[in-house]
Parts: sequence; C-alpha cells; structure tokens
Amino acid sequence: MAKYDIIYSCGHEGRVDIIGPTKDRQRKADWYASGLCPECYEAKKLADRAAELEKAKANAVEMELPELTGTEKQVAWAMKIRDAFVSSIADREEPEHDFAKRLLNVVIDGNLAQTTAKWWIDWRENDHIMNPARRLHEVGEDIARLLKINIFKEEEMDKLISAVTAMTDAELYGAVLGQKPADVAEREYMADTEAERTIRPESPKTEAILEISETVAPDGTTVRVVTPERDENFNPTVRHMGYKWVDGAWQQKYAVGFELLDDRIIHIAVTALSLDYVVSVPRPELVERVKNRDYKSFNTKVVKHHIKTNKFAIRWTREDGDFYNSAKRIGKAVWDKDAGAVLVAPEMFAEVLDFAERFGFEVSSGALGLVEQAKASKEAALVVDVKPVKKAKAKPLGDKPEKLAPVEADIAPELRDS
Ligand SMILES: [Zn+2]
Repeated sequence: MAKYDIIYSCGHEGRVDIIGPTKDRQRKADWYASGLCPECYEAKKLADRAAELEKAKANAVEMELPELTGTEKQVAWAMKIRDAFVSSIADREEPEHDFAKRLLNVVIDGNLAQTTAKWWIDWRENDHIMNPARRLHEVGEDIARLLKINIFKEEEMDKLISAVTAMTDAELYGAVLGQKPADVAEREYMADTEAERTIRPESPKTEAILEISETVAPDGTTVRVVTPERDENFNPTVRHMGYKWVDGAWQQKYAVGFELLDDRIIHIAVTALSLDYVVSVPRPELVERVKNRDYKSFNTKVVKHHIKTNKFAIRWTREDGDFYNSAKRIGKAVWDKDAGAVLVAPEMFAEVLDFAERFGFEVSSGALGLVEQAKASKEAALVVDVKPVKKAKAKPLGDKPEKLAPVEADIAPELRDS
C-alpha cells in the first residue's frame, strides 16, 4: 500500500491509498485525479437529485398531474418514479390492435390519476403497470403461444375481447392491477387440468406419475419426460426417438411445424401405460388418442441422410432384428462404427429404396433429398454420355479425367459386382 497525493479535477487536494501492482498505481492515481474529491462528489449527487426532482415537479405541473400525498421523502421518490414512467410512455410504440390501444391508454390514465406516493412506490417494479406498452407486446406474444398449443382457444380469445369491450375503463384498469403474469397462469392451468390430462392403467405399479410436458418456443417445441423411476423397459423407447437425458429428464426438441409431434408424445404415453405407469400428457385433447392408441408409431428402422459423408445411413436397433447382412448386400455398403449405421453411397439410391421397402425401413425426408440429388446427377451424367464431345471441349485444361459414371449408370443395379 502506498499513499498518493492527488489534485482532483475540482481543485481540491487529497491523499489516497493505492494498492496493487506498482505499474498500475500511477494509472489509478490519474483516474482519481480525473474525478471530484469525495466532498464535491457528494454535493454533486445531492444537487443532481434535487435537479431531477425539480424537473419532475415542473413536468407534473405542465401535465397537470395530481399532487402526491405522503412523507416528504416518499413524495420525492414517487415523483421521480412517476416522471420516469411519463418519459417511458412518451417514447412508446403504439400497439396495432384497437383492443391493445385502449388497454394501454386505460393503464396510462389510471396510473396518472394516482394520488398517493405509496402507490407509485409499491408498483414501481411491476412491468404491467410501469411498462404497459412492452408488457402488452409480451402478453400478445404469450397469448399467441398459448393459442398455438391450444391451452388458450380462439373462442376464449373472442370471449375475452367482448368481455373486455363491455368493461368500463375503471373496471378494465382494476382487472389489469389484479392480473397474473402469463407463466403463473400457465402453471395454474397445468395444475387445474392435471386430472383431465392423466391416464391410469388398470393396475398401476406406482402412484407416482410419469409426466410428459412440452415447452413451446419460437424456434421449436421441447418435450420433457420425467419418469418416477429408472426403468430399462421404458428408456429404449425415448432413446430410440433421439431423446437425451438432460437435467433429470428425457428431452427432445422438435422443429417448428413438425407434424408428428403429437404422435411422438402419444407413442411415449402408450409405452408408459403398457408398462403400468400412470401418465400425464401436456394437453387434455391427447388423452383420447392415447386411450385409442391412435398414433403413427416411431420407426426405429430408418434410412437417413448422413451429412458428414453425404451418404445414406441405414440404422436399426437390436429389438428390431438383425439387418446387417441384408444391408451389407447393397452395393458399396460399409459399416461405420461412429455413425452407428451402414453407410451407402448416394448413387445406390435405387437399391437403398428397395431395401427400405422390403424390410419396413422409414426413409427420412433428408434421405429422400439425397435420392433426388443422386437422380439429378445420374440424369446429368446421362446427358454427358449422349454428347461427350461437346463436354470435352468445354472442359478447362488440367481438370481431373472424366469419371466412368455415365457408363455405370446405365447398368441395372443387380448386375453390378461391387
Ligand atoms: Zn472538491
């Protein structure tokens, strides 16, 4: 520790203790010297506060806002909170919907009519009240989300709008002051509907519920499965579907618009029921389908596009049976340990599709894309085959020699020897 004599920017002198590496000390001393001395700093802070309060008072007079009641300190604090609110609404973006416009104006007018300092201090951290334009925007997004996952229905939305339209401004403002944030409403909804969402097998092995829930986000839906106990009869089902064990639950994220989302959830629920678990699904309307076993089952026998090698990946699980020899019979097929699949070159698409059909393998949309790609290059190759001279002319010098693919493409797959 060393003492440094400082001349502050206000001209007052002082002495400070500076610790730390010697090379940094001068820099720290300079930093002190660029600021005010402690006394001047305190005085400036008080003056700034007083000026802020004066400005708030002047704005209040200009806007004809009511005087606030309370202790002197409370009033000074509340005046500043109200002034910050006034400037935030001055910069706001106007909502599009008439319904939201009215709601926003009701909140603004309701707030500005408040006369106690305590009211402003109590509500200062509530976004519905202090940041109504932003909250309305967020609530709009929440409603869209709840509508999308059917927790909130279009009819209810219409009912809500007509109920709100029938309210007086005072009633509407009262409702805003009493409203619950959307996440609380959603939690309560889930608790209220638990009985409707729960399905019991004839003789449950445990009363603990196997819970399937979903979280909808702009970039997709995450499904979580929480099991009451570790169960090696249940786990393969979710594992085959690509679920990963994260934070104490099986989780899988599905892209926006994934058509088989409900089928996957129902498949998991049906599996859990068959293992005598009490199971809850995320939405009541799925219950009938679970009871009727009405779903497109997940096929663990799949042909996918292996992006890394740009080949077909043929995968199955031990439970499905042994397809190794059949898959290896496809030309150019190789077992890839890292991919956990038999990989096949794209030009063998016809054999791959034939294999898939014969053994009930599901061909993914990515794999179908690879089929199209391979077909296109086969056609391009055939065109080249018809006009070889023209192509040869167009070829730049130093390029690799022409592949034999055009000739090969004409040979029926079953006649090939590789
Ligand atoms: Zn000073």
